[in-house]
Amino acid sequence: MSSHQSPFQHPEDKVQPNSRQQQVVQILKQIIEPTVKNDIVSLGMVRNLRIVNDYVYLRFYIGSHQHQLQAEIESALSSLAWCKKTYIQLCTIPGIKTTLAVSSGKGGVGKSTTTVNIAAALRLQGAKVGLLDADVYGPNVPQMLGLGQADIQVIHTPAGDKFLPLEAQGIKVMSVGLLAEADRPLAWRGPVLHKIITQFLQDVEWGELDYLLIDLPPGTGDAQITIIQESPICGVILVTTPQQVAIADVRRNIHMFRQGGVPVLGIIENMSYLICGDCGSRTPIFGSGGGEQLAAELQAPLLGQIPIDARICQGGDIGSPIVMSDRTSPASQVFTQIAAALNTTFAWYSFG
Ligand code: ADP
Repeated sequence: MSSHQSPFQHPEDKVQPNSRQQQVVQILKQIIEPTVKNDIVSLGMVRNLRIVNDYVYLRFYIGSHQHQLQAEIESALSSLAWCKKTYIQLCTIPGIKTTLAVSSGKGGVGKSTTTVNIAAALRLQGAKVGLLDADVYGPNVPQMLGLGQADIQVIHTPAGDKFLPLEAQGIKVMSVGLLAEADRPLAWRGPVLHKIITQFLQDVEWGELDYLLIDLPPGTGDAQITIIQESPICGVILVTTPQQVAIADVRRNIHMFRQGGVPVLGIIENMSYLICGDCGSRTPIFGSGGGEQLAAELQAPLLGQIPIDARICQGGDIGSPIVMSDRTSPASQVFTQIAAALNTTFAWYSFG
């Protein structure tokens, strides 16, 4: 091959695709999200970045208050001499500022209980909250909030037909369980599952919400990956018990989120200890130190340790989350602190 270079070749043309990618990332890293005060790359808001010829393609995951950042990206990338145009595919849910996911490696560790109680604690602190129960394997959020099997209303909007969420304890609720017949397993697979989940993420008329909490199915399967790709999740909270087996599953779970570019906000250890009704001593029924060990290993903060409490279980059965029914209980205090930490992170001090 000739080593001759065309005199018309621009020095920028020699830039390899890989370093172009780095240039783009460097520029995007200078765009700061004003609420959380971190750059949009570190926050996991930019994903699927591709450069084809002289065009930049990316997916941008945003809340309803962050649309102005799109223009900032376009303007920042226009400074690249080789970049002819930037194509931005927005991933957002209309009306929702902050979308958070709650996940667990395995079932039965208290993921839905935690989601419901954090939603209730956020609501008590004045936030407008919605809860999307996407646990296709065990959708029990409606029961935990006292909702029976109800017909989902569909309304016609200019953007097409939308499901109307139900409301319980001031929290808007939509659940895959509300679509299914009671007591029947949800036997959705592959493309059907993907379609139903995508529809759930896009076709619910939530109105204006400060937070949407998504109760994910446990594990690392197709359903979880679809939700990670198709929803503007700002961060995920992982729930585990102190047992080693539960912890190994959370480890896999965390890797799935990090691979998908979703920040891990922290770990909640549930069923950490039993408080003796007589002397107040704490017994670690399922072992101890698991959550702390995991937090240190995976460099994710331990957000709280929830005791075993029969009232948590009863509250779930009768549709009355402990955070609302017994605000001073040790478990409620932990949920309340976690909600306050979320409010500090996402800076929703004043709710409109
Ligand atoms: P997951 O969503 O992980 O499958 P759930 O939230 O449905 O788990 O909880 C499983 C069961 O454990 C439920 O009956 C729930 O009431 C109970 N439970 C969860 N956390 C606690 C706790 N800290 N103390 C007592 N019972 C709990």
